[in-house]
Amino acid sequence: MFLGTGTPLPDPDRSGPATAVVVDGAAYLFDAGAGVVRRASLGVRKGIGALNSVNLKTVFLTHLHSDHTLGLPDLMLTPWTMGRTEPLEVYGPVGTRAMTDGIQKAWALDIDRRLHDLQPATPRGWDVNVHEIQGGEVFRDERVTVTAIPVLHGAWEAFAYRIRTRDKTIVLSGDARPSPALAQACQKCDLLIFEVYTMGSTEKVTQPWREYRRAYHHVDEGVGRNRRGQPTRPAGPLSPRESGMRSGGRQLRHVGKRSGSVG
Ligand SMILES: [Zn+2]
Repeated sequence: MFLGTGTPLPDPDRSGPATAVVVDGAAYLFDAGAGVVRRASLGVRKGIGALNSVNLKTVFLTHLHSDHTLGLPDLMLTPWTMGRTEPLEVYGPVGTRAMTDGIQKAWALDIDRRLHDLQPATPRGWDVNVHEIQGGEVFRDERVTVTAIPVLHGAWEAFAYRIRTRDKTIVLSGDARPSPALAQACQKCDLLIFEVYTMGSTEKVTQPWREYRRAYHHVDEGVGRNRRGQPTRPAGPLSPRESGMRSGGRQLRHVGKRSGSVG
């Protein structure tokens, strides 16, 4: 389920980047953009109990750009406030630990009051277990195997993730230019979730922004075409209905980015 497909642009129709992969009643989150926990609650309303906030226990960060991580304090603290009993497991590049340490420091008074005041609180749900990763297999349980693929996103250390279940393979690019490693990771995958800036929006921004987009992101020339060269879906943002859909099947899906953003 796409929890958010936005950019730093404060678009009221799009939350920050976050995707939930739900397998056999367990949720695995990829990125934690602004609004992630509230958007997960929309999933609960649609019948996906795995997205109940107390069940949000594992997140993989593609990189540490603010639009991909502004929801991290929300993901660390709101599910705990709702009753999560376990620490949040956080996988991400070098710098993830410094970020979670900073968040805990920023909210230290809140954590202390909730733990020691009259308000009931579980003793460990506020905490995090951080796993700073390199490329390769980073996670395995009885439902999924998650592999991190280093991708090109300017100066950032950034990862795409390949998620294998018993019967599906999903690849999520995060923010990335196309690269041979990413293309290789997508071979025979069932679903590719790839970021893209549309040409239409790119033509409207200044030259420095165009150069930035081409250096750090994908502008929709080429990717997303089938063997006959036809687009696999119209370029552009997902509709609100699509952005909340559960995904499946063999398809290539773009997640559109809009103009004027640094993400
Ligand atoms: Zn980024």
